[in-house]
Amino acid sequence: RTVFVNGAYVPENEAKISIFDRGFLMADGVYEVTSVLQGKLIDFEGHAVRLERSLNELDMGMPCTMDELLEIHRELVRVNEIDEGLVYLQITRGSDGDRDFAFPDPETTKPTLVLFTQSKPGMANSAASQKGAKIISIEDIRWGRRDIKTVQLLYPSMGKMMAKKVGCDDAWMVEEGFVTEGTSNNAYIVKGNKIITRGLSNDILHGITRAAVLRMAKEAQMEVEERSFTIEEAKEADEAFTTSASAFVMPVVEIDGATMGDGTPGPIAKRLREIYLDESLKKAI
Ligand code: PMP
Repeated sequence: RTVFVNGAYVPENEAKISIFDRGFLMADGVYEVTSVLQGKLIDFEGHAVRLERSLNELDMGMPCTMDELLEIHRELVRVNEIDEGLVYLQITRGSDGDRDFAFPDPETTKPTLVLFTQSKPGMANSAASQKGAKIISIEDIRWGRRDIKTVQLLYPSMGKMMAKKVGCDDAWMVEEGFVTEGTSNNAYIVKGNKIITRGLSNDILHGITRAAVLRMAKEAQMEVEERSFTIEEAKEADEAFTTSASAFVMPVVEIDGATMGDGTPGPIAKRLREIYLDESLKKAI
């Protein structure tokens, strides 16, 4: 694979980052994941806008222009011949060659920019999405700025492992009795024709897929209600699903051992997945 590191395209085994990089030492960095379908980027602009916001919130600068960023994405997709897959992008605060809690001087320390691709053939029609996901609930003990897409992913990783350990696929996190989001996705329930998902705040990541799916749901005359819900309410809902750039719309078929409906992906989740894939592909660049 060819990857991009600080201005250069290099083979992955030749890519180098300082051991003092604050991304490595302190998880001082942000990231984005943009999916690729038919060799095209899905909602690049949405990801670019959120990236800029994440950087602003952490007093970090953009290491290049958005046009350059798009060009790097496209070039990596091209040279690595990605038909279906992802482009991962990470920007960390870099390093001034030592370890210190205080941020280094931004005048002399440049951020580190890394991008690589992951090929995922069959992603648009994955077996996992046809089967649906089994979910457990866990307490949300993450920090209070989940709206910033930082690389601090230890607790979400642990959540996934907790799910795997009991034969499930993923975990929904719960704070003060209400579901915040999944380990790497936004969470939804469906009651009748109504789609219910938590409103935006610092408590959750403002999903790019969430924004697109809610817009498309409204356009398809479905009702959308942005409010918090409990695991008890979710278990009794007609359907549940998650959204993320890498899994699109993923039906949920089990929550804490309770089967959703007949245990197969619900009609609204399936329909939203189709609409999302269709519409996003039309606008892909
Ligand atoms: N919440 C969390 C915690 C996530 O990690 C992600 C995916 N990175 C999402 C939601 C979904 O966001 P998006 O649709 O932009 O991928």
